[in-house]
Amino acid sequence: MPIPFNRPTNVGNELEYIQQAIQSSHLAGDGNFTKKSHAILEQAMNVPKALLTTSCTHALEMSALLLDLKEGDEVIVPSFTFVSTINAFVLRGVKAVFADVRPDTLNLDESKLEALITPKTRAIVVVHYAGVGCEMDAIMGIANRHHIPVIEDNAHGLFGKYKGKDLGTFGVMATQSFHETKNLTSGEGGALLINDEKYFEDAEILREKGTNRSRFFRGQVDKYTWVNLGSSYLPSEILAAHLLAQLEKREEIQSARKKIWETYYKELADWAEENHVQMPFVPAHCEQTYHMFYMLFPNLEARTRAIAHLKERGIQAVFHYLPLHLSPMGEKYGGKVGDCPVTEQISDQLIRLPFYTNMTEDEQKTVINALKEFSV
Ligand SMILES: *Cc1c(COP(=O)(O)O)cnc(C)c1O
Repeated sequence: MPIPFNRPTNVGNELEYIQQAIQSSHLAGDGNFTKKSHAILEQAMNVPKALLTTSCTHALEMSALLLDLKEGDEVIVPSFTFVSTINAFVLRGVKAVFADVRPDTLNLDESKLEALITPKTRAIVVVHYAGVGCEMDAIMGIANRHHIPVIEDNAHGLFGKYKGKDLGTFGVMATQSFHETKNLTSGEGGALLINDEKYFEDAEILREKGTNRSRFFRGQVDKYTWVNLGSSYLPSEILAAHLLAQLEKREEIQSARKKIWETYYKELADWAEENHVQMPFVPAHCEQTYHMFYMLFPNLEARTRAIAHLKERGIQAVFHYLPLHLSPMGEKYGGKVGDCPVTEQISDQLIRLPFYTNMTEDEQKTVINALKEFSV
């Protein structure tokens, strides 16, 4: 049996909740399943406001609109990330400014951040890669000194912590993804988390086509109307029903993933050392989310051979982000070889092993044994 890189996992109540959503005759957004999902996110993460969205990409677009970013503004973003992290801002005419990452956690390198700030910098977007927190004390210190808002792309970091505080609660806003490749899923889906209450009302309006419909439903106004810019960012109750089933089982999901991650780490540590392969690094002050298991091979040639070796044995291992500053779009913003040397190097070295919540012990053993047969 081939072993895929990812497989979405059902955790129990998804179908029952979707059926309840259908029977309730409320299929559009913001019904009971959405409200319960908001409440769980807010309570579990200690975040003042959570709003489900149709994707993390859309939540990032909302954050760019809420910050009122315009043509000519600059946004700092790690070069080692998914395209949506910056696309959402570029859509507003913003100039992308690419930051390099740390060689240990692969997170934005806080020591190189301040040099990228100009009078035009309007936001700093951080990504907690693999669900391991960025150095938020240093990053928030720099951002606050320059009065620049921070947005956390927390697609990997749901329920992770930095010094005991939830990832997603440091910046003015943060975004989650519930795409099928993430720890918790509704197929496609996301959330905008808001930590600064001055954005609460505008966010609700923006998400509801520019109307004050949310206030109307709470009885705060007696009719609803077009009050500001808007779009449609709310998911249907069918998706929220699927998500709620997963949110309720978050502890089981996370503990199953923890076991898989720790097994990979324990079983592969000696092999990695012999083969000069770098294992993932989690600083002691970070609680990670067990989103993925990655390793850094010594070079591109060894990485390519390892992926082929696993593929021959029916195992799908994959690399990850290509440096954004060297992409055709990145070059439009002046990106060139040498700008982000760590990103350029680790992008060639990284492998992610198959990792999903319902991975069996046998499947994992197959992956581990196959890798141990490989020499760099
Ligand atoms: C998955 C992912 C996204 C996009 O999520 P969608 O919900 O598919 O829009 C954005 N940023 C990062 C870091 C991701 O991993």
